[in-house]
Amino acid sequence: MEASTSGDSQATIAQKTWEMSNNIETISSVDEIYRYDKKQQMDILAAKPWEKDPHFFKDIRISALALLKMVMHARAGGSLEVMGLLLGKVDASAMIVMDSFALPVEGTETRVNAQAQAYEYMTAYIEAAKQVGRLENAIGWYHSHPGYGCWLSGIDVSTQMLNQNFQVLYLHNFV
Ligand SMILES: [Zn+2]
Repeated sequence: MEASTSGDSQATIAQKTWEMSNNIETISSVDEIYRYDKKQQMDILAAKPWEKDPHFFKDIRISALALLKMVMHARAGGSLEVMGLLLGKVDASAMIVMDSFALPVEGTETRVNAQAQAYEYMTAYIEAAKQVGRLENAIGWYHSHPGYGCWLSGIDVSTQMLNQNFQVLYLHNFV
């Protein structure tokens, strides 16, 4: 009984600590953040302020839904790396991640970016989501480093370059 009480309070403390260090905010369901303003997004995509300033984006906000899906996906991968995409929008200098989805890619640090079929999957997924009113675009990607810490490898830099170029094309086609 005592052990379980202390376990509960430790979990509560751990959760509070995590919430404080990650600036967790609870927002109401009618909040502006859930709304997708197509014109606003088209205007900012046309202006591309990030092309003039590589440090344009200052903040990222991640919904609990997107975070939970990413963590579950990474844990399910076990010792294999997993990869997925972030769906969302931009608001001034913040990126807002509303949702995420897994890509059919798995591998090691040396081959996680071998993914022509993943791009086909990704395009089909985002297009299908738009048909049911989810207009968010892919604004980023995630992948796991099981057992070797958080850092950006050379492969990751290439993947980022590929994604960034692809997404620019993608946004031109679908927004
Ligand atoms: Zn990596």
